[in-house]
Amino acid sequence: MSGTVVMKFGGTSVADSARIKRAAARIVSRREEGARVVVVLSARGKETDRLIAAALEVSDQPDPREMDMLLSTGERVSCALCAMAINDLGHRAISLTGSQAGIVTDTSHTKARILDVRADRIRAGLEEDRIVLVAGFQGVSTTKDVTTLGRGGSDTTAVALAAAVGADVCEIYTDVAGVFSADPRIVPDARKLDLVSFDEMLEMSASGAGVLQLRSVEYARNHGVRIHCRSSFQDASGTIVVPPEEIVEQPLITAVTHSTGEARVTLKGVPDTPGIAGRVTTALAVANVNIDMIIQNEPVSGGRLADMSFTIPKDEVAEARGALASIRDEFDIEILTDDGMGKVSIVGAGMKSHPGVAAKVFTTLGDQGINIEMISTSPIRISCVVPVDRVPDAVRALHAAFELSGPDTIRPEQPFGEFA
Ligand code: ASP
Ligand code: MG
Repeated sequence: MSGTVVMKFGGTSVADSARIKRAAARIVSRREEGARVVVVLSARGKETDRLIAAALEVSDQPDPREMDMLLSTGERVSCALCAMAINDLGHRAISLTGSQAGIVTDTSHTKARILDVRADRIRAGLEEDRIVLVAGFQGVSTTKDVTTLGRGGSDTTAVALAAAVGADVCEIYTDVAGVFSADPRIVPDARKLDLVSFDEMLEMSASGAGVLQLRSVEYARNHGVRIHCRSSFQDASGTIVVPPEEIVEQPLITAVTHSTGEARVTLKGVPDTPGIAGRVTTALAVANVNIDMIIQNEPVSGGRLADMSFTIPKDEVAEARGALASIRDEFDIEILTDDGMGKVSIVGAGMKSHPGVAAKVFTTLGDQGINIEMISTSPIRISCVVPVDRVPDAVRALHAAFELSGPDTIRPEQPFGEFA
């Protein structure tokens, strides 16, 4: 008997009736090949953005619980419509909300984490020879409230269901042909990657590649779920995300990623005593501000005041200032912010065993006259914060310097909405 597959379609792939019908046809043909099919759908097109805007029209700070009641509707609409289209193709479909599908989360509204998947209702549907459609991006909390999983969360729904039903593969159908060696909107000859390891994909998602939600990759790695990220508009195979052991020929560098929308916060005149860094970061954590890079300059020879800088998403600057206000007053610290920052990163498992990669990155950026504001590294990633207007140049220069556009460059199709 053929195995089970999870097929997830992103917002652009179900944006209008024609696309829903096209997705339905693709789902049905997968079923007719013999696979048991679980489908996860995103909200149509920009529906989630519209719902958020609607909430902000009636309330400055919408109640998070009600926000989740609202946002979870988008994916339900997609699933019900697609189930109707599948039924009309002569197959039996059933759509389920996240809650009905047994996705249990914690109670943190608008960014809940999946705790458990009780997939008996999905299994029962499959046993009845149905195609089971599950609304992405949502679940039910341990206190029985509807929750959502954060932007891009349908990817995580799909991976979690794939793990729960023991699917052979979790297929993510999107509007790009796969994962690229850089954003093709910036580097037109970026190469489609055939295989990427979980570890590299984690670093890529965390440093700006928008194809897969970071948590979905984490979940896939923890549960050993293979992800096949592919185009919903063409048949060609896309990018498969696999355990690192499966990558035989590891290139030195796999991809260049970037993000815009970063801000740097500098605290000037921080007392150089134990415990201060802990207080600063705790205050930010309590306010739910996500810190990325952190640098602290120890005072040189004898001084007692240090400078501390870190980056945060630029739309969290106000929260950060608020969270740090009392520490600022207590120690007479000066807080400076600059929200014109971007970040460019290179990712590649091959750099672990190769000296000189950092030197090449910094030299390449230097040759372009691009000032590096901050640097952070992991064993398989080097990231530089640079002025946001230089990000495209930085991406192109690094992509060229590490010769990432291979001979078999595949040109992606338009549009690239979900890549961003
Ligand atoms: N519709 C949600 C969003 O736009 C979830 C998703 O599409 O994955 O973030
Ligand atoms: Mg997405």
